[in-house]
Amino acid sequence: MGITCNGICHRYKAKKPTTMGRYASGQKRCNSCNVFLHWDGLWCPCCNYKLRLTPRSSKYKEKVLKIKSEKKEILANGM
Ligand SMILES: [Zn+2]
Ligand SMILES: [Zn+2]
Repeated sequence: MGITCNGICHRYKAKKPTTMGRYASGQKRCNSCNVFLHWDGLWCPCCNYKLRLTPRSSKYKEKVLKIKSEKKEILANGM
């Protein structure tokens, strides 16, 4: 409630960096506007939602979880 995109965020929209990750290059993500921003503040200039500074979860962790679930499928199929 109260968090809405006002259409301002596109002015601060950050391009995807080619040499490093988005967060590493100082970009911040607004989960409300669904956009990466070049913005110095902690809050979205568009909707005032708190910006995310770091990735939600490490890629490594996701990979491990995926492998585990795949193994379970194989076991369930009677291998
Ligand atoms: Zn917005
Ligand atoms: Zn926003």
